[in-house]
Amino acid sequence: MNKKFFIRTYGCQMNVNDSELVSAILADSGFEKVENIEKADIVLFNSCTVRQHAEDRVIGRITQEGGRKDSDNLPVIGLLGCVAQRIGDKLLKNIDALDFAVGTDQYRKLPALIKEVLQKKKRATLVEQDNKEVYGDIKPLRRQGPNAFVTIMRGCNNFCTYCVVPYVRGRERSRELDKILEEIEIAGQNGFKDVTLLGQNVNSYHYKNQKFADLLNKAADIKTIKRLRFVTSHPKDLSCKVIDTMASKKKICKSIHLPLQSGSDKILDKMNRKYDFSHYRKLIRKLRSAMPQIAITTDVMVGFPGETESDFMYTQHALDSIRFDYSFTFKYSPRKGTKAANFKNQVEEDVRLQRLQKLIDLQNSITHEKYKEKIGDVATVYVEQVSKKDENELSGRTEDNKIAVFPGDKELIGSFVNIKITGATGWTLLGKKIA
Ligand code: SAH
Ligand code: SF4
Repeated sequence: MNKKFFIRTYGCQMNVNDSELVSAILADSGFEKVENIEKADIVLFNSCTVRQHAEDRVIGRITQEGGRKDSDNLPVIGLLGCVAQRIGDKLLKNIDALDFAVGTDQYRKLPALIKEVLQKKKRATLVEQDNKEVYGDIKPLRRQGPNAFVTIMRGCNNFCTYCVVPYVRGRERSRELDKILEEIEIAGQNGFKDVTLLGQNVNSYHYKNQKFADLLNKAADIKTIKRLRFVTSHPKDLSCKVIDTMASKKKICKSIHLPLQSGSDKILDKMNRKYDFSHYRKLIRKLRSAMPQIAITTDVMVGFPGETESDFMYTQHALDSIRFDYSFTFKYSPRKGTKAANFKNQVEEDVRLQRLQKLIDLQNSITHEKYKEKIGDVATVYVEQVSKKDENELSGRTEDNKIAVFPGDKELIGSFVNIKITGATGWTLLGKKIA
């Protein structure tokens, strides 16, 4: 009988796509994927270590899951991803329930490892880094739904001083251009009409003499897909050529995620972000003048070491003046091994919390206003599913990546529907289908 595996993903879209790669690798070796954790012989947690809280959560889940093991040690439990890469060895020593830990570059060896764990009841870690691995030839086993993630590069060379990613995901390397285009084309043929290109810093994509703008241009010409998106753009690398390409290609969605991190030049410098606020502002102007309808989202962090009240005011001012469609707000979390973890002037927890709450409140009110401004507009929605709240309604995504809900028949799932926006609640647009 085929052994069954279940995989739960934490963290970013890159991890979601990695779980799809892992699922393909295991399915190719005869393992069967199940969606119900209780039916699985093998439970995998694909983890995120970018903040301490994310790491604590997955460790808690492993311990909890361990309570379900039977006398044959089933299900076996494996930790994948960035936490495995960072502290897999240590966790295997300290957590009895954990059977194996496999880092981000070793997924090809998972089938053999799992067989050994099941047969010989051994425990093991595989966390060696391989700065050439891009899993270029593996066709991901995609999750349900009309959106596909396509990884175009792995790793990061930027070493922002707060960030653990370059340590756990290794050096930046780009996938072969033709392989990416082929994967997009196949995704489209299989019904995934909305494709998001993924990388920690997509704007530094390069393969031979092809840059990110070249990739975007070619990908946008693929006939099997209807929408093309990408994350994440680093402000130091976003070129005019990329902005022009976005503006000129209809299939490229007019939305961008452009992490600011802080509005204070002093803090940006200490973060090693390699741009200042004035550069960032100029990019926003260029984006909005090339595409007046563009939706812009960002990441901002509070409580970075040395952040004073006036540095924080610069960040509030940045949010106020730029008026992002949405900001992902984070409380600085010291990560062992990063430069900033050793900086003096760590900001006290209660101050970090207060600043975080202020930013959340500020962004919520801006987002609310922005959503209200959409009332009366017509938007094209890519219908994803029946709404969770009402079975007579459908939910989907607009071109600028907002969730929209409207009454409709479930046969429309997977198609593009024009709606008139009639209202907005929280982060959802409400609408009515128009002919
Ligand atoms: N490569 C992407 C970001 C990856 S991490 C980029 O550069 O934009 C996603 C977000 O998590 C970052 O933008 C940052 O805002 C946040 N983050 C990263 N490390 C963090 C830390 N140590 N504490 C709090 N937030 C952090
Ligand atoms: Fe981390 Fe900076 Fe790389 Fe993003 S660009 S992954 S924040 S080091």
